[in-house]
Amino acid sequence: MDDCIVRAVTGDGAVRCFVAVTTKMVNEASVIHKTSPCATAALGRVLTAAAIMGSMMKGENDSLTIQIDGGGPIGRLIAISDSKARVKGYVNNPLVSLPLKNGKLDVGGVVGHDGLLGIIRDFGLKEPYVGKVPLATGEIGDDIALYYAQSEQTPSIVALGVLVDVDLSVKAAGGLILQVMPEATDEQISNLEKMVAGMPHMTQMIEEGQTPEDMIAFVLQNFESYTMETQTTMYKCDCSKKRIERAVRSLGKAEIEDIIEKQGNAELTCHFCNKTYVITKKELQVMIKQ
Ligand code: ZN
Repeated sequence: MDDCIVRAVTGDGAVRCFVAVTTKMVNEASVIHKTSPCATAALGRVLTAAAIMGSMMKGENDSLTIQIDGGGPIGRLIAISDSKARVKGYVNNPLVSLPLKNGKLDVGGVVGHDGLLGIIRDFGLKEPYVGKVPLATGEIGDDIALYYAQSEQTPSIVALGVLVDVDLSVKAAGGLILQVMPEATDEQISNLEKMVAGMPHMTQMIEEGQTPEDMIAFVLQNFESYTMETQTTMYKCDCSKKRIERAVRSLGKAEIEDIIEKQGNAELTCHFCNKTYVITKKELQVMIKQ
C-alpha cells in the first residue's frame, strides 16, 4: 500500500477523522538516519503526526513543525511537514536503545516526559504561531492529544503506531487523528471513544492490508454520512546548496573568516537527509565581500 492520508468529515460537520499510512515514509527515515528500532518508532510516530497535522494546513507555503524535548536518551525530536504532507525529521541520538517494555518498543522511555512538546505553525507571516504544552507520557500520541485539548481547545483522539521488523525495516506505520467540533453531542463523543478503544492496533490493521477507508468506515460506522478525500504523503527533504549558503551567510563575516582560516572549505551536512554540501574557500571569500 502506498503512503497516503485520508480525511473524512461527517455530514453534520461534527467530526473530522484523519487516517494515515506512512510505512514507506518511516522506513525511508530509518534508512537515512540508521535508527535503532526504538528511534525508528519514536521518529516514525512524530513524522506521521506531522504529516497529518501538516495536511490540515491550507496555504501553499505553510509549514508545521513538531519539536519534542522530553529529557530522555533520544534527545530532541524534530519533524517538519508542508501543507502537502511532505515531511522530514531527525532525532539527536538515532542509536538509542532500551529493553522492551511489556513486549513493546519503549518509546516513552527513550523520549522521556520531563519537558515540552512544541508545535510551530508557519503561515509565512512575520512571526510563526507557537504552542507549547508539557509532555504527558512521551509516547507522542497522548502528548499530541493533550496539546490539542490544552492549546487549541479541540478534543482529539490520537493513535500513532510503528511496527519494526526483525531485519530493522518498517513493517507497518500509520496514525489516526480524530477531532470533535463544538457542535458534537456528548453521545457522539462517547460513541467515538468506544469505537476507537475497540479498534485493533493501527499497525496490526495496516499489516492485515486494511486501508484507511476501512478504518474510517469502522470508526464512523454510527454516522449517517461522511465525505472522504485522499492525498499522498512522503519523506522529502527540500535542502539545496542555495539554502545552505544562506545559512552560512547568516553566520556573519567574522565567523566565515574563522571557517576559512581553520577549515578552508566549509563542509555542511543536512540534518534531515544527511546530504553533504561543500562550499569552497573561494565561494566563502565571495560571501565575505558581499
Ligand atoms: Zn536535506
